[in-house]
Amino acid sequence: MTNTTNPTIELENQYGAKNYAPMPVVLTKGQGVYVWDDAGNRYLDMMSAYSAVSHGHCHPTLVKVLQQQAERLTIVSRSFYTDQLGPFLKKACELTGFERALPMNTGAEAVETALKAARKWAYTVKGVPHDQAEIIACKGNFHGRTITIIGLSTEPQYQAGFGPFPPGLKTIPYGEPAELEKAITKNTAAFLVEPLKGEGGIILPPDGYLKECAAICKKHNVLLICDEIQTGLGRTGKLLAFQHEDMKPDAIVLGKALGGGLIPVSLFLTSKEVMDVFTPGDHGSTFGGNPLAASVASAALDVLIEEKLIEKAASMGDYFLKSLKNIHSPIIKEVRGKGLLIGVEVKEGYSARDICLKLLVHGILCKETHRTVMRFAPPLMVTKEQIDTAVNALKQVFEEMEKQPAALK
Ligand SMILES: *Cc1c(COP(=O)(O)O)cnc(C)c1O
Repeated sequence: MTNTTNPTIELENQYGAKNYAPMPVVLTKGQGVYVWDDAGNRYLDMMSAYSAVSHGHCHPTLVKVLQQQAERLTIVSRSFYTDQLGPFLKKACELTGFERALPMNTGAEAVETALKAARKWAYTVKGVPHDQAEIIACKGNFHGRTITIIGLSTEPQYQAGFGPFPPGLKTIPYGEPAELEKAITKNTAAFLVEPLKGEGGIILPPDGYLKECAAICKKHNVLLICDEIQTGLGRTGKLLAFQHEDMKPDAIVLGKALGGGLIPVSLFLTSKEVMDVFTPGDHGSTFGGNPLAASVASAALDVLIEEKLIEKAASMGDYFLKSLKNIHSPIIKEVRGKGLLIGVEVKEGYSARDICLKLLVHGILCKETHRTVMRFAPPLMVTKEQIDTAVNALKQVFEEMEKQPAALK
């Protein structure tokens, strides 16, 4: 266990920007659901890099694909075709049921791509007057950190000091279809929504929410875009989280786990009609769709299916949720989640970060999201035994805290 006087930590603190407040541990190695620190201590990773490591750390099949492709061809820009991109896009489209896919690198870039596509679709297909297109998102959303995207955020800290923001953005309460219908105007291009709020605190909308939103969007000729960057690719026990409901959005964005835990890869997926608004020169990315990323992402999709990671997330998620709900502590306010995306909310006055720090001592890595919610989102191949270890550690931490609650307020 490292502490804040660790010289490696000091280096980051001295030369880096202070835009994060990391847990005081220096990781040097990862394998499957485990990571090791610089002193050789092993930890169970219950956070998996915000779902980017759904396949587990350094998955051997994916590492091999990365190595082999790295020796052949890595980056050429989109000025040329490669033997890797076409097959990857075909696989991603066929697996998800969309007709077209546009590759980027980070999640935020894929969201930006979706917003650009929606705006141009509004002007060229829907007939919205020049520069009048509107995008609707939900309060408490998380879609990334670019200036446009934080323009849609309702988190004061995400916006403070970074304005002004582009016009044409508005937010509505999450989980209330009637609010969506009220907010739509003849100029609305798209409704951007997370099937389950991740960064917002692991918040599930009421059953049938997305289905109702889809019907409303269809009625008003508005694109429904699901941000599946965190919830997609098995995390919630389905390939895509919207598949828990009988509906299909007009577009989705994927990222995080798409890179197999090795490399940033994101995708905007939609219909031919929407994707065709882009013409050469409209939009791009130097690294987006590079053969190294395409080969790894393609293999990451294969591994997801071949190793039945989606089914595992469903069954282990149920087990994890049930086990957490069996912890009867006066500190817990609520346990909620879907698949292996689970939040444990503690009562007001307790700090989720402090609890994460205590779990670290027990060899469990996790991270708070918002002040009072701890996120449990391990790699999808996590076993019952590993879940038991995490649950027992949490139980122990709560028991220790119950003995001295005053000190923790
Ligand atoms: C993480 C995340 C993003 C942003 O992805 P980056 O790769 O960090 O840019 C967007 N939407 C959701 C739902 C996310 O969880």
